[in-house]
Amino acid sequence: MLGLLRKAGHPITADPARAEILIVNTCGFIGKAKEEAVSTLLEAARYKTDGVCRSLIAAGCLVQRYPDALREEMPEIDAFIGVTEYPRIVELVESVTNARLNAELTPDGIRTSVITAVSRATADTPVFECAPDTPRVTTQPGAFAYVRVADGCDNHCAYCAIPSIRGPFRSRAMESVLDESALRVGDGAREIVYIAQDTTRFGMKSGDGAARSRLPLLLRRAARLPGEPWVRTLYCHPARVTDDLLDTLAGTPGVCPYLDAPLQHVDRDVLRRMNRWGDPDSIMKLLEKARGLGLTIRTTFLVGFPGEDEAAFRRLYDFAEAFGFDRMGAFAFSPEEGTPAYEMPGAVSDRACADRLDALMRMQRGVSLSRNKLRIGNVEDVLIERIAADRNSRGGVVYEGRGAREAPESDGVIRVRSAEPLALGGVVRARITRARHYDLEGETVSI
Ligand code: SF4
Repeated sequence: MLGLLRKAGHPITADPARAEILIVNTCGFIGKAKEEAVSTLLEAARYKTDGVCRSLIAAGCLVQRYPDALREEMPEIDAFIGVTEYPRIVELVESVTNARLNAELTPDGIRTSVITAVSRATADTPVFECAPDTPRVTTQPGAFAYVRVADGCDNHCAYCAIPSIRGPFRSRAMESVLDESALRVGDGAREIVYIAQDTTRFGMKSGDGAARSRLPLLLRRAARLPGEPWVRTLYCHPARVTDDLLDTLAGTPGVCPYLDAPLQHVDRDVLRRMNRWGDPDSIMKLLEKARGLGLTIRTTFLVGFPGEDEAAFRRLYDFAEAFGFDRMGAFAFSPEEGTPAYEMPGAVSDRACADRLDALMRMQRGVSLSRNKLRIGNVEDVLIERIAADRNSRGGVVYEGRGAREAPESDGVIRVRSAEPLALGGVVRARITRARHYDLEGETVSI
């Protein structure tokens, strides 16, 4: 959206106090995300009365999910744009500007006209792509770029509202993803991170369960692009983590040896009620194969799903402790209207949910430290992303970066001490000297 606006000549600022039009891109798939989106919208609306902002636009998943309720309950918002309508952002911004010229302010600063662009995603809705002639304006710092390879989801996990928000699964074409990846490398990205609701379906058609995923081929080809970026994929559905994918992650120079496979649970009954794949044996087999190939493994668990009794939670806890995930995130179940789990019996109390989440994450803290300690003494490539401290007690500058085993934003960092100045966005060799619970420390070594 920012790229389209810039191309159309609209100056962009990240400072909300200076913006005449504020766009808030929202998330809306679980309770906490919805609360955060609404409070950000309310915060942004304050700039309409206290600052130079004249129009507020709400974009994204919350809008897609609740357009009518938002229109009714948040009169501060001047325009709404759902996830399928992003290509129309310039038109919307310009309509809002014109409407503002023609509309009167009510005494409390609220506009009288509202513009809405929301439509349902179908199997024919194209994935919103960054066209080659559109500049990409990234909002995240660092030397990496996310590239979306597909949108929507056909998995229909019983707790998940995302398929109803983003629509059925649609894959981008291989060449289009590679072209965009090459552009991002040209813009300075040293690492390309492939994302989608389910990256392992890349190259498949909606409803075509028998087709082969083209994700392994995409990774292999992307790693050979000019500039030889690091290539990483996130959000692999465990049911579609094939030997080909594991071998590609483990054995392709430039492809990060990193498997992110959200499991959500390991208890067979809970998984069936979730409409998810697996049981303890098949999951352990997959994980051992991945670990045997030397991959760093991240997963996500969902606690407090309806019917998860103490024994089922214990099975999850014991499994996670015994395997020892390198990285693990956990969430408490959030009942979402319109999903099968919303009506399921066996609700787990908020208190029990919070206790289970806490117990799991406390355990993982210790596991994470012991997994990190295994890397002490290793000499690894580190992608330098920012200066952490100009000077430290031993002289030299401390930089912050990541290895191929750290995904941006969700994992820890590697702090590297160097006597020589290091280029941001460059890759250096560093010896890991110290492990913290989630982060590592090291120093540069000459090759
Ligand atoms: S695979 Fe992910 S996005 Fe798709 S339904 Fe399941 S949890 Fe939701």
